[in-house]
Amino acid sequence: MFRKILIANRGEIAVRVIRACREMGIQTVAVYSEADRDALHVRLADQAVCIGPAPSSESYLNIPHILMAALMTEAEAIHPGYGYLSERSSFVQACETQGIQFIGPSAEAVAKMGDKVQARAIAESAGAPVLPGTRGAIRSEEEALQHARAIGFPLLIKAAAGGGGRGIRIVHSEDSLLPSLRIAQSEAQSAFGSPDVYLEKYIPEPRHIEVQVLADAHGTVLHLYERECSLQTPRHQKMIEEAPAPNLRPEVRQALGETAVNIARAVGYQNAGTIEFLMDSEQNFYFIEMNTRLQVEHPVTEAITGIDIVQWQIRIAAGEPLPYQQTDIPIQGHAIEARLTASIPEHDFTPSTGQISQWIAPGGPSVRVDSHLYTGYSVPPFYDPLLAKVIAYAPTRHEAVRRLRRALDETTIAGVQTDREFLMRLIDTPEFHAGEVSTPFVPRLLRGAIATGGERL
Ligand code: ADP
Repeated sequence: MFRKILIANRGEIAVRVIRACREMGIQTVAVYSEADRDALHVRLADQAVCIGPAPSSESYLNIPHILMAALMTEAEAIHPGYGYLSERSSFVQACETQGIQFIGPSAEAVAKMGDKVQARAIAESAGAPVLPGTRGAIRSEEEALQHARAIGFPLLIKAAAGGGGRGIRIVHSEDSLLPSLRIAQSEAQSAFGSPDVYLEKYIPEPRHIEVQVLADAHGTVLHLYERECSLQTPRHQKMIEEAPAPNLRPEVRQALGETAVNIARAVGYQNAGTIEFLMDSEQNFYFIEMNTRLQVEHPVTEAITGIDIVQWQIRIAAGEPLPYQQTDIPIQGHAIEARLTASIPEHDFTPSTGQISQWIAPGGPSVRVDSHLYTGYSVPPFYDPLLAKVIAYAPTRHEAVRRLRRALDETTIAGVQTDREFLMRLIDTPEFHAGEVSTPFVPRLLRGAIATGGERL
């Protein structure tokens, strides 16, 4: 096992990884930007190294400085968290070159799945259903027109290198295809460094269902069931996630798990990863992408399986075999996570910054709070607005919904504006209670198209 791990991240996820290391008796090195001197992850780690000024491009994305910090402190492994360098194959490669173990999959798997066009082809080769769309990146306008007619409208133009809900455009009719294509290509070039885009069939009211996988270096590939992540902002940022997905037919659940394992095997995957699918109203599912890293919403899966995913990421990277078989992992109970963010939902989720004048975290039975907040903490304007994840666990979905509602109700965050009240409104809708939501639900609620307070439209 590693003696010391460097955590190349900040915020709640850096704190989460430090906690896992502590419980395993592993020393930790935090890295931080000048804006994060007083951050909780810096206080909790055994050592901390400043890696640059506030902007992420000069600090949390600064590969030479992060590698230097690891070498200086003699850390043997790097946990990248999510976001930042977690899905950069060049970083994985650079760690390998320096003899530092990257806690995640190989550079090759990251590169293959990071290209959504290639990922679709791999999924297809593994027998997974994919949405109708172009097989490769669009090479000419004639090709785009031809494919678009075959797929039908509306359709999506997606950036091959896109991620984080960015790089997706909807096209409603043939007249807007070519202008949208040109915009999408130039946006993809400036945002992701590659103009490659592809076309994909649009599903009108999809549910976002993803499957957690764990794969070791000895050929064992397991799935830890699915998460429902259909409650998303209009820009596809997830707001509430749960496991297991409500109202899922058992044979669909089984097929999802098997498909995810086949995809992971097809790419020679090791470590924790997530295979994302869209599901239509008949519960047909289609592969959309793989995230080759830890997800924000991993705690709901930990709650229902009893498996500490971060600790297993570390053990797998150290070469330990998974001691489970698929049949050893039952689903127990139900877990729901709400993301508290410093943002104003009614104003297009504009981020809010400021000093936290009061933070009272919720508690009580089976409530988990993953957060880097403390009273007096200043939320810097440079980073992701996630403040805390509140996770409620209970034997049944109904009880988990009530528990999450209770937990959010007793939470106090003063000093910045948050989405707390909006999250409670969401939870109070009859649609959420019934487990019947799809991705357009939050945008509709924001537009006032859904009645709240127990009354259906
Ligand atoms: P990213 O990598 O940016 O997260 P994804 O391909 O995972 O992009 O898609 C993000 C979200 O966009 C999905 O959860 C879903 O809400 C929406 N979306 C993606 N593809 C489609 C599609 N073909 N039809 C309808 N909605 C889609």
